[in-house]
Amino acid sequence: MTTPPPADPYGKEDTIMLTELYIGGQAVPAGDGGRFDVLDPATGQVIAAVADGTADDAISAVDAAHAAAASWAATAPRERAEILRAAFELMTERAEDLARLISLENGKALPDARGEVTYAAEFFRWYSEEAVRGAGQLTTAPSGANRIVVFHQPVGVCVLVTPWNFPAAMATRKMGPALAAGCTMILKPASDTPLTALAMAEILSAAGVPPGVVNVLPARRSGAVVSAMLHDPRVRKLSFTGSTEVGRVLLREAADQVVNTSMELGGNAPFVVFADADLDAAIEGAMIAKMRNAGEACTAANRFYVEAPVADEFARRLASRMSALVVGPGTEEGTQVGPLVNQDAVDKVHSLVRGSLEGGAKALAGGGRPDRPGFYYDPTVLVNVHPDAPILREEVFGPVAPIVSFDDEDEAVRMANDTEFGLVSYVYTGDLARGLRVTERLEAGMVGLNRGLVSDPAAPFGGVKQSGIGREGGHEGMLDYMETKYVAVDW
Ligand code: NAD
Repeated sequence: MTTPPPADPYGKEDTIMLTELYIGGQAVPAGDGGRFDVLDPATGQVIAAVADGTADDAISAVDAAHAAAASWAATAPRERAEILRAAFELMTERAEDLARLISLENGKALPDARGEVTYAAEFFRWYSEEAVRGAGQLTTAPSGANRIVVFHQPVGVCVLVTPWNFPAAMATRKMGPALAAGCTMILKPASDTPLTALAMAEILSAAGVPPGVVNVLPARRSGAVVSAMLHDPRVRKLSFTGSTEVGRVLLREAADQVVNTSMELGGNAPFVVFADADLDAAIEGAMIAKMRNAGEACTAANRFYVEAPVADEFARRLASRMSALVVGPGTEEGTQVGPLVNQDAVDKVHSLVRGSLEGGAKALAGGGRPDRPGFYYDPTVLVNVHPDAPILREEVFGPVAPIVSFDDEDEAVRMANDTEFGLVSYVYTGDLARGLRVTERLEAGMVGLNRGLVSDPAAPFGGVKQSGIGREGGHEGMLDYMETKYVAVDW
């Protein structure tokens, strides 16, 4: 049984704007009536007051997810697949509304927001195809005494915690595989961007997801709300995307009930350019790796290492491209770089840039904030950056490209690996053997080889070192929502 999606699931023409908690298929206010403001980063003005979930609301959401768990797990894979496919179709139909909503609450420029909707919707389509491909294993024990049967079952009630930088895609990257696997869930979105997550809940409901399977709990007091859920024994899985700092806290919290965890944490991506690289391609790749989402991406190139003979030319050309970018409100057509998410983000970026300039770096482009209301930062290129500068150690999370030159392959690899993070690395070279050799030596979960974009719903996304545990996307992404069961059969 698949419920055909209504033509206009929201009953509205232009906007999608749900502002209550979404529990058990109902929009409900917070138990204590609390609300919090969501701001438009382009102006700093309030755009909505959203219900502020409490720890008691969180337990109500667990009640709903737990009540729905057995029947959703028993729903035929084909039916789950068709519901996910309907959600993909609905997101595609509503793509422009969703892109505007993302741009409104997150600040990103509309082309980035449209790209996010396409990427986010693809997780529903890809996992609709994966839902019916559940595989098991049958082998004979080496002794010959019995057979070994292995199969996978949904892990159960999941808590999904997402960041503000991709408010749709980080939600669908978790919800798609969790739904396909047969899990029920409570999504706790970032408090800067709860509106997109609520719109996702509406889309899933309109696509036929039964009440209680997906619950969305906006909450400003994230610590209390998530902790309450992680201490409820009915919760079996935490999937978190966010900073390494918060990830560490949640790993400790999850330890109390030994909750299964997946952690997609911070990054500090090196972008390595060898002198034999196609420089035009390297500049194009750098613009994507650095400026997608105005640099507010865990995959954003954070440190540029360029071989000495081409370092000056690379810096000059990158600075010229960065200076030409149109900065403005994300929702305005023609804008290429929107504001950052909030004032704290601007202050952090500026303090890293100022520290670098005080340490002897030079700005070939940008270096400060434009004089306008809202949370803007100028696209910036820095050269002569001191190798120990904090800007090379911390996630910048903004439109800033620090460039350092290197002399040989060993030095490039050493500098690229000199970080506690290990999410993604980018390498540009015209020598395939070198590309593969360097790729093997890089401590990262993902490598872009002559390519500035690695994210793909069909690929296992994730990091090593302090960038995380587990993989999202691809076949591995669904296994992260399943337990492996083995049966010893005497036959
Ligand atoms: P954050 O860690 O501040 O917040 C992430 C989520 O955790 C939000 O929903 C937030 O409300 C919640 N949270 C914060 N404190 C909490 C606590 N004590 N207990 C429970 N929940 C808590 O991160 P952010 O600022 O929203 O996002 C930016 C970070 O996310 C960057 O570090 C970025 O690299 C990372 N990120 C990683 C990936 C990835 O796939 N590896 C993808 C996107 C973003």
